Amino acid sequence: MTAQIIDGKTIAQQVRAEWKIRADALKARGIMPGLAVIIVGEDPASRVYVANKVKACAELGLHSEHIALPANTSEATLLAKINELNNDAKIHGILVQLPVPKHNDSSKVLEAISPGKDVDGFHPMNVGALVTGNMRFAPCTPYGAMKLLEKSGVSIEGKHAVVVGRSNIVGKPMALMLLQHNATVTICTSKTVDLAKFTRDADILVVATGKPKMITGDMIKPGAAIIDVGINRMADGKLCGDVDFDSAKEVAGWITPVPGGVGPMTITMLVANTVRAAELSANQAK
Ligand code: NDP
Repeated sequence: MTAQIIDGKTIAQQVRAEWKIRADALKARGIMPGLAVIIVGEDPASRVYVANKVKACAELGLHSEHIALPANTSEATLLAKINELNNDAKIHGILVQLPVPKHNDSSKVLEAISPGKDVDGFHPMNVGALVTGNMRFAPCTPYGAMKLLEKSGVSIEGKHAVVVGRSNIVGKPMALMLLQHNATVTICTSKTVDLAKFTRDADILVVATGKPKMITGDMIKPGAAIIDVGINRMADGKLCGDVDFDSAKEVAGWITPVPGGVGPMTITMLVANTVRAAELSANQAK
């Protein structure tokens, strides 16, 4: 079997076009959705991510603000900036690019963002909403992975979904969203004994470990849908996922490539969450 490749770039364009219609509907009512992205410090990778986020907003004709603060910005100054944006009517979504420099308490920073503007979905209130099945803003990467499954026609209900990785930004929210869609969900971690026993039983396998090519074709159930969240830079400069694409694609039914799979969806879902935040705020104001 050769797997159907899930083309994240094409699906991201489709999803952006859907959300552009919703953004345009808001604009027609005089509401311009706005995102503020705060970056603290000079981390080159973070700067690229932030520039791409701001660019994606511009492509959809949204308002965006890029707030670059020096690495030595005090936590009090950062919290004051977040508070200012919480009260800024032009801004519907606020994102603080992680990681923040170590002298900041990242939990405190994320909790300072108004839950209604928390487009990354990391505020405990939005995490709680996800846990109780009343999702408001889902974390962008797993939300994008769910969209890839949906747009590829992979059915989720009643299937065994295995998520490898339990981070707060990917693994745990991914597992909760699959559960919400009536999958039977198993979460595996670095402490799981006999990982292959679980992965070989997965109809849907989501891998988010940061361990290059750790899932090989012999660990995959024939016909399974494989979502590879990993992004790893190899010694030769090329990117690869946490799944060994060449061996996995011979066994799987569907598979995401790296790059060009989950990656393009993350920013797309950030834009979606920003438009949704503006919709919710407009409806509240009615
Ligand atoms: P974390 O390092 O926060 O979490 C990794 C998880 O993988 C942990 O739960 C860890 O288990 C688990 N793990 C590590 N090794 C193994 C193993 N051998 N077997 C089973 N589980 C293992 O990573 P993130 O969730 O933040 O990111 C994961 C990957 O996704 C990275 O490659 C990252 O670059 C990528 N990523 C991609 C994004 C995108 O836009 N496409 C966005 C975010 C991340 P334990 O908890 O026991 O330590």
